[in-house]
Amino acid sequence: MRKTDHSHWMAERLSEAQDLDPARIDALYGLEPVYEPGLDPRQQPLEDFVDIECPHCGESYPTRVELLYAEQQWIEDCQICCRPILISASVDPQGMARLRVERAS
Ligand SMILES: [Zn+2]
Repeated sequence: MRKTDHSHWMAERLSEAQDLDPARIDALYGLEPVYEPGLDPRQQPLEDFVDIECPHCGESYPTRVELLYAEQQWIEDCQICCRPILISASVDPQGMARLRVERAS
């Protein structure tokens, strides 16, 4: 059984974690995304830059995240040490991206 290491969750905006609303909790638990009334998703940016910490060398750098997809995963090479990083991203209905990083090899 694989151990989940929550210390690898990056870019958590802790101040926002205290006012969890139902839509946000749904997003956290991977349920259907719920859009807030009055929040037009077309007005949200399509991408964002989020700092990740390389699991190989420990350096941080910003990586581009597409906000169109609630769940996505990709491999990219660290911009500092060039080793491959598996990035798992989840984007909540408010457009807030959370990234988890693992060594891809
Ligand atoms: Zn690195």
